[in-house]
Amino acid sequence: MKKILIIEDEKSIAELERDYLEINGFSTDIVLTGDLGMQRALTQDYDLILLDVMLPNIDGFEICKKIRSVKDIPIIMVTAKKEEIDKIRGLGLGADDYLVKPFSPNEMVARVKAHLSRYERLSMKQNTNESQGIYIRGLFIDRSSRRVFVNNQEVTFTTKEFDVLTFLASSPNQVFSKDHLFERIWGYDSNGDVSTVTVHIRKIREKIEHDPSNPEYIETVWGSGYRFR
Ligand code: CA
Repeated sequence: MKKILIIEDEKSIAELERDYLEINGFSTDIVLTGDLGMQRALTQDYDLILLDVMLPNIDGFEICKKIRSVKDIPIIMVTAKKEEIDKIRGLGLGADDYLVKPFSPNEMVARVKAHLSRYERLSMKQNTNESQGIYIRGLFIDRSSRRVFVNNQEVTFTTKEFDVLTFLASSPNQVFSKDHLFERIWGYDSNGDVSTVTVHIRKIREKIEHDPSNPEYIETVWGSGYRFR
């Protein structure tokens, strides 16, 4: 059952939202103040949050921003003022949608359902991509079978080479230092040292790069480490 958090200080509205959501098969929690609402949203698992803008202690804008910095679940803002819509849109708070009071409860339920299914589709897509593999410009890394293909030709990788490549390719555009890579792939208690990373990167480049001295996948960021592009 999908769980929805209602953060709303007007009890009658909170209860109206709860009633309509529950007859539509959702489970709900109501929190009447901003600070408690934010705390609840951050510490417990919900599938969606209905968030009033005007709240005691901390307002909905602040709460939305805070939740968004750690969670990507749908947030629907509820406001009593039409002029706040522009603010919701303009502030880049990360709210997915908004409702203006008074709203039709059926409309609210429809929006909740739409955002939940959109979110589900998105996270399903991410999971599938993750389990199946990574495909970037002619390079295909199949995670489940641990095989690598360059322009449809399979290339043999050692276990560590595969781990380094997959680790980098899973976080494209992020720079990882040699120390970080060594620690992640080999672990602290291993016998090797950081220069192992350099050797492995060179071997991986020889296997996947068209021109290893001018790499297009694994870039060296001088003084910092490596970045997968
Ligand atoms: Ca309010």
